[in-house]
Amino acid sequence: MRVLLTNDDGVQAPGIAALCRAIERRPGMEVTVSAPERERSAVGHAITLHKPLHAYPVEVAGAKSPAFSVSGTPADSTKIAVLALMAQRPDLVISGINRGANVGADVMYSGTVSAALEATLMDIPAIAVSLGGFEKLDYGPAAEFIADMTEQLARAPLPDAPYLLNVNVPLGPRAEMAGVAVTRLGLRYYDDFIVKREDPRGRPYYWLSGEVRDTEKEPAEPGTDIWALANHLVSITPLRFAFTDEDLRQALEPWAEGLL
Ligand code: MN
Repeated sequence: MRVLLTNDDGVQAPGIAALCRAIERRPGMEVTVSAPERERSAVGHAITLHKPLHAYPVEVAGAKSPAFSVSGTPADSTKIAVLALMAQRPDLVISGINRGANVGADVMYSGTVSAALEATLMDIPAIAVSLGGFEKLDYGPAAEFIADMTEQLARAPLPDAPYLLNVNVPLGPRAEMAGVAVTRLGLRYYDDFIVKREDPRGRPYYWLSGEVRDTEKEPAEPGTDIWALANHLVSITPLRFAFTDEDLRQALEPWAEGLL
């Protein structure tokens, strides 16, 4: 199985190195890494059209697979690997392991999810994987879980490829994980705020920020990715590009008739 690894935390990030080490050790796995040269978290699905892209070979810590540092976005890294860097198309693209969860509306902003979605748009199945927290980060258990999942996909392929599986793994050792839940996207609310300050030349500048609302006070809806993480479950959410609002489309037809 040919596996392409990418991410949005940058080619030198510990998450992709842990994933690379875990998967390249498994028999029959041929790994290539192509990831942004620096962190590009929250760039979404941006691609680079108006300047050249560079990709140069690098080493991933503790790993032996070929790796490339790309001067573009996560989606660029997937595209350039499939179209130019790899001798043959990958059978699977895995993006991550991201530092921090990608649940609910996060997937709209996430470079991790977009790099994987780019693969599915190129007709290649993909997994996006994120670690459900920011403290005491140990990517080892999530990396081993994804390596197991990759072997299972090789043994028992899923129907309807190309699929996109968005995986969120809780923090902590595997023994503390309560199980695996197949979920749907939940709604996670951020209290957004903007800090306004003044630069040394007296011009205002703005700093965009936000905090996740306390889910203790607002428990997550059962069956969602947010609920799974809150209950120490590994969350697997199948995603697809399908934005059309079917209900509104039908209601819109008679309404739009009189417009022209
Ligand atoms: Mn990231």
